[in-house]
Amino acid sequence: MKTFTKILFIPIFVFLSGCGVSHQLRSQQAQHFQPVRIAILRGVGEFTLQVKGPYQVLNFDSKETLGQEKFLKAKKVVPTKDGIQIGEKHYLKDKIKISPQKEASVYINNRRFRGEIDIIKNVNNHLLVVNVIDLENYIKGVLYHEISDRWPLEAIKAQAIAARTYALYSMQNSKSPFYDVRSDIYSQVYGGRTSEKYRTNIAVERTAGLVLVYRDKILPAFYHATCAGHTENVAALWDNNLPPLRGVVCNFCKKSPHYSWKKNMRLKDIQDKLNEKGYAFGRITHMQVLDRNPSGRITTIKITTDDDKQTIVSGKEFRDIVGPNVIRSNNYVIDMKGYYVDFLGRGWGHGVGLCQWGAYFMSREGYSYDEILSFYYPGARIVDCYEKHKRLDL
Ligand SMILES: [Zn+2]
Repeated sequence: MKTFTKILFIPIFVFLSGCGVSHQLRSQQAQHFQPVRIAILRGVGEFTLQVKGPYQVLNFDSKETLGQEKFLKAKKVVPTKDGIQIGEKHYLKDKIKISPQKEASVYINNRRFRGEIDIIKNVNNHLLVVNVIDLENYIKGVLYHEISDRWPLEAIKAQAIAARTYALYSMQNSKSPFYDVRSDIYSQVYGGRTSEKYRTNIAVERTAGLVLVYRDKILPAFYHATCAGHTENVAALWDNNLPPLRGVVCNFCKKSPHYSWKKNMRLKDIQDKLNEKGYAFGRITHMQVLDRNPSGRITTIKITTDDDKQTIVSGKEFRDIVGPNVIRSNNYVIDMKGYYVDFLGRGWGHGVGLCQWGAYFMSREGYSYDEILSFYYPGARIVDCYEKHKRLDL
């Protein structure tokens, strides 16, 4: 029995299906939309560049052509005192753009990318390498790193919309003048053309342009692997209180492989990690969960040391310091074992927004991507960002 409402979603999908926009047109719209700039290498001394086909080298600032080449065998790119060296060619600029033509493939350290490549030399004589690409192709390079391409299509489509929305949110909040997102876990992991799979590409094409909004603003569409019973209220982690991110009961991820976990650690190792981050703990003798929030996740932990000092550490900070993939979630019990401790936990990830394994089991039960998204982001609407971009302030 489906227990949640679809009312908010129906009119929008009548509109979208009624407008009969083809996938080709949608990809053309994407190309005219603001591109995503992804930092794929930061602060490197050199990297390997290869272009299998014609390309131009442009002045990053003025866009004037500095060179027109037929192809480039794999060559080292290095910063020089007064410019950037690509193989035997030297460009007297600190910022250049590689613009492939006729869909020539570009390879950075043997990984294939679509779109353009910006190479920027910083004041420390290191290079920043940025892939500039349209939003749809960016999401194609993200999805395989987030979920399996073998999952049911509706779950992949839900993930595509969440990832596209999160990308737009990141673009609106970018702090760097040269890139919007990183290609690692600090944004969404992105592997370029090399990471694209047939079924994840289909999911991107069938949801092209669709994003989640709340009150006409792009939603920070957080997602995570497994919530293990209740998604987290965003206010517990970040300075945000949006109604679609306040947490829901999720009974769909019970069979997730990440539903429960156990981690055994030496107390000495925990002491060392905390002290590396500025604490001054003596030998830890006891740890105790003090408080949990309504989603069941730990808000505070009390740590006792051999000098009988007691320190309160927030659950979020404790997990960040010990390691978010060591302590996989903030929902666990502490079982003291002498010089060791067992953490017996449930779920994987921060728990906010879409529960990926919940989405997987929902799709296997026949739920569609819009139903999955309305369940995990209640009150959010799905809109077409290419149609609505003026209103969404993009
Ligand atoms: Zn869940």
